[in-house]
Amino acid sequence: MKLILLGAPGAGKGTQATRISDKYNLPHISTGDILRKNIKEGTKLGVQAKSFIDAGQLVPDEVVINIVNDRLQQADCNNGYILDGFPRTVAQAEALDKVAKIDAVINIAVDASLIVNRITGRRMCACGESYHISMGIGDTCPKCGAKLYQRDDDKEETVKARMQVYDTQTAPLIDYYTAKNLVIDVDGGKPLNEVFEQISKVIDDYNKK
Ligand code: AMP
Repeated sequence: MKLILLGAPGAGKGTQATRISDKYNLPHISTGDILRKNIKEGTKLGVQAKSFIDAGQLVPDEVVINIVNDRLQQADCNNGYILDGFPRTVAQAEALDKVAKIDAVINIAVDASLIVNRITGRRMCACGESYHISMGIGDTCPKCGAKLYQRDDDKEETVKARMQVYDTQTAPLIDYYTAKNLVIDVDGGKPLNEVFEQISKVIDDYNKK
């Protein structure tokens, strides 16, 4: 199944994508993760992307489109994948249409008032897990023991810019995919497990067809 997870920053796309990937054995393709890896490794792409990410702005379309086109050609994508954080603009969605036939777009809807607290309290681990400070976690990852950190772009000012970018550039994708009859809304304000159950049901129904 070829799945897109759509939602504002902090909607829980990454967390849900990690879980779906584990349960259904589908590759989790996160453009944000790919860009951050490149920044960490100091590649040309990373250098190019860093200033956009730090400002809460989108990396230019042609850059991310190339990344995704390359990634989708890898053998593990033959049986489907989960796209997390791509597409983020209509131009990216149109580029994706040229190389893939998407089966469903899950729109994780969250009230804007929840978002700032969710993101500024988020702590990440290099192993891919993420937590919220309200979970009472310490400095290290309960799963693998590595030191937790806050993403640079999870600071409050950058979060506001990212939310504005979402409203103007990414939210129009809901209409774009609704017109193609692909959108399934899930309530991202619910606890993680309930959101995961809602998404699992969508995939199970698809697999039964
Ligand atoms: P994320 O981890 O999905 O929240 O992405 C973090 C940042 O990476 C975003 O705020 C953008 O600056 C950049 N980014 C990730 N995915 C895309 C995309 N599809 N198009 C443009 N920029 C992106």
